[in-house]
Amino acid sequence: MVYSILKCPVCNSEYDINRNNYLCDKCGNILDVIQKGLDNFELSDYAGVWKYKNLVHPGIEDKYIITRREGNTNLYKNFKISDYSGIKNIFLKHEGENPTGSFKDRGMTVAVSEAMRLGFKKTLCASTGNTSAAAASYSSFAGIDSYVLIPEGKISKNKLFQAVSYGANIVNINGDFDTAMADLRETLKKRNDFYVLNSLNPWRIEGQKTIIFEIMEKLEPDFISFPAGNLGNTSAFGKALMELKAMGKIKKIPELIAIQAEGASPFYDYINNRRDNIIPVKARTVASAIQIGNPVNFKKAKRSIDFTHGIVEKVSDDEIIDAKKIIDRSGIGCEPASAASLAGVKKLRENNIIDKNDAVVSILTGNILKDLDMNLSYNAMNINDILF
Ligand SMILES: *Cc1c(COP(=O)(O)O)cnc(C)c1O
Ligand SMILES: [Zn+2]
Repeated sequence: MVYSILKCPVCNSEYDINRNNYLCDKCGNILDVIQKGLDNFELSDYAGVWKYKNLVHPGIEDKYIITRREGNTNLYKNFKISDYSGIKNIFLKHEGENPTGSFKDRGMTVAVSEAMRLGFKKTLCASTGNTSAAAASYSSFAGIDSYVLIPEGKISKNKLFQAVSYGANIVNINGDFDTAMADLRETLKKRNDFYVLNSLNPWRIEGQKTIIFEIMEKLEPDFISFPAGNLGNTSAFGKALMELKAMGKIKKIPELIAIQAEGASPFYDYINNRRDNIIPVKARTVASAIQIGNPVNFKKAKRSIDFTHGIVEKVSDDEIIDAKKIIDRSGIGCEPASAASLAGVKKLRENNIIDKNDAVVSILTGNILKDLDMNLSYNAMNINDILF
């Protein structure tokens, strides 16, 4: 029998999953979901995220599961991407193909299902955009109310449009994402009728592990790269690889490459300068999805980098925009933050940290339609550009 408990990654205290507070009572750190008795890798009849129910939320009854068939996204190979990165075997895994257009759906299906299991009627999240779109969609689909804290003027209009259209209650925050996150944590101290959907909810992390399960079923990559903001994916990917390794399902462990934007790179600093603690920064980047200066999941994320002997790199906004143009013009397309995963790999290839014969998977976290203002601003041409 496989079943889940909550466990503190720092002081190892264990808790029952029927509690709704995801912070350790003893030391205040963010808890993990731990699947106990996980030695058989049984797949279910679902497609996508819930195919891995046994590794994600083994105990939940089907009647609580809120799914929009998220996951099961495609891997693309294209000569323009290979030429640009200098890596022959580079694959792009497109999380923009999820129902609301980003990987956030993978975590959201599990977290909103858990909200249903626990009997909540209201959800709450702070968001740079995609979390709010996914939270709104899945909450409405389940028939419960969503409240989203939005840093006013700092998220893409397209993402806000999704949250509003799916029926979220929008709460404008005067500040940036980090202010919204701090406000959310204050709210949770005072109210217990909201179910939190940010990635400090460890069930989100469980859902996001399935990106790795899908990749490892098809390929044996040397590296897996992805943009890193609040570090939910960084945490999830390492945890997935630790579990696959423990079950004897993989021999070689791919190195994780977390890419930050230069103007929002506290995790880069924390890892590469071997600091004891994360030093929050005022985040500034065109890639609004990773414009985060005080990431909540940094301890779990460090565990992932340590376990995989991974790398944390940073890239400039110009490098992100440059990579995005190539991805868009290869016909694949993605949102700005996603392009950091290719920009970072290109940089690591140029510095000979990745070899041209290595196999690399870069994760495109969001859809090309997620940030139209930005696409239009750099693609606008003057009539003189075509009158030659
Ligand atoms: C949320 C998000 C990220 C950042 O992911 P983390 O898990 O918070 O590091 C990157 N790209 C896109 C498109 C996102 O929506
Ligand atoms: Zn603890």
